[in-house]
Amino acid sequence: MKRLFIGLLASLLVGASSAFAQDFLTIGTGGVTGVYYPVGGATAKIVNDADVGLRLTVESTGGSVFNIKAMQAGQLDLALAQSDVVYQAFNSQEAFDGDGVDQLRTVMGLHPEPLHLVCDASAGVSTFSDIAGKRVNIGNPGSGIRNTVLAVMDKFGFDPDSDIVAESVRAAEAPDLLRDGRIDCFFYTVGIGGAAIQDISTTNDIVLVPLEGAEFEALVDEFPYYAFATVPGGTYNGVDEDVTIFGVKALFTTTTDLDEETVYTIVSSVLANLEDFQATHPALRNLTPESFIQGLGAPLHPGAERAYAEAGMM
Ligand code: GLU
Repeated sequence: MKRLFIGLLASLLVGASSAFAQDFLTIGTGGVTGVYYPVGGATAKIVNDADVGLRLTVESTGGSVFNIKAMQAGQLDLALAQSDVVYQAFNSQEAFDGDGVDQLRTVMGLHPEPLHLVCDASAGVSTFSDIAGKRVNIGNPGSGIRNTVLAVMDKFGFDPDSDIVAESVRAAEAPDLLRDGRIDCFFYTVGIGGAAIQDISTTNDIVLVPLEGAEFEALVDEFPYYAFATVPGGTYNGVDEDVTIFGVKALFTTTTDLDEETVYTIVSSVLANLEDFQATHPALRNLTPESFIQGLGAPLHPGAERAYAEAGMM
């Protein structure tokens, strides 16, 4: 929640001559073994270190749908979220049917989030359709993962209640279930090189299933928020070839409740420290100026627009 902290007492204590004001803002992210959490942390560090009167903190959450609903309820100021979820929230679709978030705005377009389908090699899964009859984690309610997986299942005519044995745990817990042999596969829409997948790839013989072909191409053609990404060979232990995977894009979002100057300050701080920002996670390494302003799902916040215009990006 946005809190205006008047540091009158603090300034008296340190003997400063005048009061100072600082805005405290919370960023909703995802699980600590995902990419949103470190990316939110990197953003917070850059803005806090810039000493521009803002204090950003990150919160680990259940993911995109939770984050947008929490912003809608005024419990988060900023959030990472998937392009499909942002689009659907802004346009009152799917999980936001009848409860759209008109005030939702994009701050920064970030990294691709391929829909990783990670299976134990013993499960014998090499295409999406092979998950029929398997025990598969489709993500917790509130995750963006579940949102994307259910849309894909629908496209394939799969019923999650009968065609697979669906688990609904958080992405951070899924690798342990796979390790214990309690599931065959898990889905995770996450930036390339996410820790949860790297970790399991070092202890288990895993398969990263390619998600390409007619059904996926039709989804990408039909909806503006889907895209293909290539996971380079060597990203995960034992996955030596490049893998083409259908997925979404990560967006940094807020609402119109946050003022123009604040959003401008956040974006311009990140742009001024772009190399540091990109160095914080492999998923950010290939960001281009276009990444920030394309595939956004909801209109740009005016403060972000101002920062991009000033940087000559628009
Ligand atoms: N895309 C995931 C979700 O919305 C979170 C990914 C991450 O934490 O990096 O559920």
